[in-house]
Amino acid sequence: MLPIAQTSVVAHLRKLYADNRIPHALLLAGPEGCGKMAIALDFARLLLCETPQHDGTDGQTQPCGHCHGCAMSRTLAHPDLHFVFPTIKSTSSTRSVSDMWLKEWREMLLETPYFDLAMWEERMGIANQQPQIFADESEAILRKVSLVSAQGGYKIVIIWLPELMNEACANKMLKLLEEPPQQTLFLLCSNQPERIITTIRSRTQRIDVKVIPEADIAAALEQERGLSAPDAARIAHIAAGSYTRALRQISVSNEEREFLDMFILLMRKCYLRDIKEMHAWSEQLSSWGRERQKAFLEYAQRLVRENFVYNFRLPQLNYLTQEEEAFSTNFARFINERNVIGISEELALAQRDIMQNVNPRMVFFDFALKMIVLLIQ
Ligand SMILES: [Zn+2]
Repeated sequence: MLPIAQTSVVAHLRKLYADNRIPHALLLAGPEGCGKMAIALDFARLLLCETPQHDGTDGQTQPCGHCHGCAMSRTLAHPDLHFVFPTIKSTSSTRSVSDMWLKEWREMLLETPYFDLAMWEERMGIANQQPQIFADESEAILRKVSLVSAQGGYKIVIIWLPELMNEACANKMLKLLEEPPQQTLFLLCSNQPERIITTIRSRTQRIDVKVIPEADIAAALEQERGLSAPDAARIAHIAAGSYTRALRQISVSNEEREFLDMFILLMRKCYLRDIKEMHAWSEQLSSWGRERQKAFLEYAQRLVRENFVYNFRLPQLNYLTQEEEAFSTNFARFINERNVIGISEELALAQRDIMQNVNPRMVFFDFALKMIVLLIQ
C-alpha cells in the first residue's frame, strides 16, 4: 500500500535518492497514524529495486514493480530489508529479538502499514506487558549489517518506535550510528522523537511528517476499504489526521452496527410483547463474551440518550450514524421524559450485574421484560 497523501515527504526522499545524498540514518518523526511506516516501506522498495524507472511526468524515480528485488520487497522477504520493533521477553528463550516475532510482524504489515502499538500487542497476543527494544537486538542488527548485502545493493534497517529502546540497546545502537557500515540505511519511525536519546537523534537526519488531511483519509477509506462516501467522511472526521485511528474506527463501526441490529430486534419484540422471541434474544446475547456484553449495554445507553435528544430536533446536539438515524426517525418518539431515566438506569444496572458475574441469561431476559413496561410510559 502506497503512503496516503504525504507527497512532499515522498518527493523529498526521492530527491535524496536522485541526488545520491542518502544519509546513514533518517528519522521520520510525526504523530501516530500519519504514515511513517508506509513512507519508510515505499522508500525501501525504491532502494531495493534493481531497475528503478525514471518517471517523466513528475521527474521522480519509481521502483519498477516487477524485478526480483521488487517482488521480494512486496512480500517483505527481501534479505536486505530488516526490521526492528518492540517485543516482550519470551518465556521460552532468554533472548528477545524482533526476528522471533517476524511472522506476526509480516502478517500485520502485509495487511496494512497503518497500525499502532496496541494493535501490535494484540498481534503478539500480550496484555499488561510493556514491549521494548532489548539489548539483544543491537547485536542482531550489528550482525546483519556487517554482512555484505545479499543482493549487492543497500541494506535497510527499519526501526519502528526507536523511543522504546532500552538504555543498553540505545548505547550499542549509538556505536553503530557513529561508525555506520557501508551502504546501510537506518530508517527510524518515531511517534515521540523527543524520547530518543539526544546522541542518537543528533546522528540522524530528521524529516517531519504531518497528520493526513481529512479529505485524503476519506478518499483512502473509499478506495482501500470500499466505504460509502458519507461513511468515509464521518470516519475521516473522527480520525483527526490518523489513518490508523480511521481503521480502528471501522472495526468499532462494524461492531456497533451489530449492536444496533440487536437493539432494534429487542425493541420490536418488546413492542409486540413476543416473550418467546425476547427469550431467544437474551439467549443469543448470553453466548457473547462478557466484555462484548458490557460494550453492548454501553452502546444501548448511548443510543437511548441520543434518541431522547433526537426528539428536540437539534441536529448539532445529535451524534448518530446514518443507520442509527434511520432507526431513530421511528423509534425516538418512544423515548420521552417519563421513561428515559428509567431505561438508562436499567441498562446501567444490567451492566453492573454483568460485571459482577450475574448469570447473563437472567440479566438480559429481565431487562427485556422491564422494557415492555418502560416503553409504553
Ligand atoms: Zn524493481
